Amino acid sequence: MADWKDEVEEIVFDGKICVPYSWTVGSTLSKWYGIMRDDAEIWANRCPSCEMVFVPPRKKCIYCYEDMNEWVKLPGTGILETYTVVEHPEPGVYPRETPFIYGIIKMDGADTGLVHFIEGVEPDKVKSGIEVEAVMSKEREGNLMDIECFRPVD
Ligand SMILES: [Zn+2]
Repeated sequence: MADWKDEVEEIVFDGKICVPYSWTVGSTLSKWYGIMRDDAEIWANRCPSCEMVFVPPRKKCIYCYEDMNEWVKLPGTGILETYTVVEHPEPGVYPRETPFIYGIIKMDGADTGLVHFIEGVEPDKVKSGIEVEAVMSKEREGNLMDIECFRPVD
């Protein structure tokens, strides 16, 4: 069978497909986001078997596979475990102008890390191990950005 491209110049158009969609975050994250939106508080949940405290909360313990139905309120403070400074701009991708700091915060009262923005410290001054506190957004919508950022505790 002859290839049609041997006889005709192939013409190619570029296209884009936009596919709007919605998805549920499920019962556990719906509860978590709802508390942040309505009460400006950060909660976690604890495994009834191994007692690990997860933030963000999980439906099942990743170690025991137990249902995680015990909720605990966190004080909103923690330790910046590690971080990266994002310097390369990606318009439309990052919700912050570069340079900005992403960090993993081990929140007081929890055993896992939460990834979020670190503000209130210059990128060349940030360091692992500093104490940080959550700054809640004034306008909250029920998503992770209800936490505006974490900043160093004075
Ligand atoms: Zn467990």
